[in-house]
Amino acid sequence: MTAAEAAERWPGLRLPDEYAALFDPLGGVLFSERCLEALKAASLRQGATLLIGGPVRELQVRPGEVVLEWEGRRLVAENLVITLGAGAGTFLRRWFPEWRIPVQPIRKTVAWFRCSHRGPSDAPYYRADGFPGYLVETDEGTYYGFPDFGEGVKVGRHDGGEPCDMESVNRNFHARPQDQQVLRDFLGRFLPYANEFQRGSVCLYTMTPDEHFVVDTHPEYAHVAVGAGFSGHGFKFAIVMGDILARMVEHEEIPYDLSPFRASRWASDSQ
Ligand SMILES: Cc1cc2nc3c(=O)[nH]c(=O)nc-3n(C[C@H](O)[C@H](O)[C@H](O)COP(=O)(O)OP(=O)(O)OC[C@H]3O[C@@H](n4cnc5c(N)ncnc54)[C@H](O)[C@@H]3O)c2cc1C
Repeated sequence: MTAAEAAERWPGLRLPDEYAALFDPLGGVLFSERCLEALKAASLRQGATLLIGGPVRELQVRPGEVVLEWEGRRLVAENLVITLGAGAGTFLRRWFPEWRIPVQPIRKTVAWFRCSHRGPSDAPYYRADGFPGYLVETDEGTYYGFPDFGEGVKVGRHDGGEPCDMESVNRNFHARPQDQQVLRDFLGRFLPYANEFQRGSVCLYTMTPDEHFVVDTHPEYAHVAVGAGFSGHGFKFAIVMGDILARMVEHEEIPYDLSPFRASRWASDSQ
């Protein structure tokens, strides 16, 4: 639809005249914490044991076996699947230095803003029953967010951000003046009534150079697999990625072409 049609449908949205809008009626928003709780409950029902705690202290990989020292315990397993998000790079460099996987954590900020203005039906402009999840490609960056489910409109910037490492990153939302300012600047132009800051948060993307995932087995140990570098768009694929990684280490058939996700796609860069 045109910018004018979009503005008519969502009066809280301002788009420059030359912009076009694409609305996907099947699009939606996942409540990630609830998804994780549901996945946890489902895995427990299937007989999984969840061990939650600190870092691995020792790791030995042998043909057909992995031995971990963790929280004072010795764990022996047939397979190992590594999915550590922003911690993947540090872990892989320490335990698998030969396995070159270029993943870079990037510090990002997101924030929630309330709407200062009500629409014609006396409803705030950005409420979830009348406003969609959005992604806007502007001339200076790509921004995304969710409608107001009760705590304000969510907004974040998808591109940009600050390279960091997971251990020392500054997780204080107000650490940099731009933490809030870039989000305010975007909202001021595109969602101008979302102007009452509620809260902000720092999170980490784990980027690869081509922004595609790494889903692969170790070049030498077929019972060790990694899922990493989800580059800010991995959550919605979590279930299928879990299925693929489990099939990989179990040597089961995988009905997808995974060649775009091989770790070896950068092999020539490091020579
Ligand atoms: C602000 C933000 C917005 C996002 N929005 C979207 C979106 O709209 N859609 C989408 O699809 N994706 C989105 N993502 C990306 C998505 O969250 C990730 O791609 C996804 O969570 C990656 O899953 P993962 O299991 O690889 O890592 P994570 O979810 O980060 O899980 C890794 C876990 O490993 C733990 N860990 C790390 N290192 C160690 C260690 N050494 N020892 C033990 N445990 C360790 C961590 O604490 C964490 O619990 C967003 C990410 C951010 C930060």
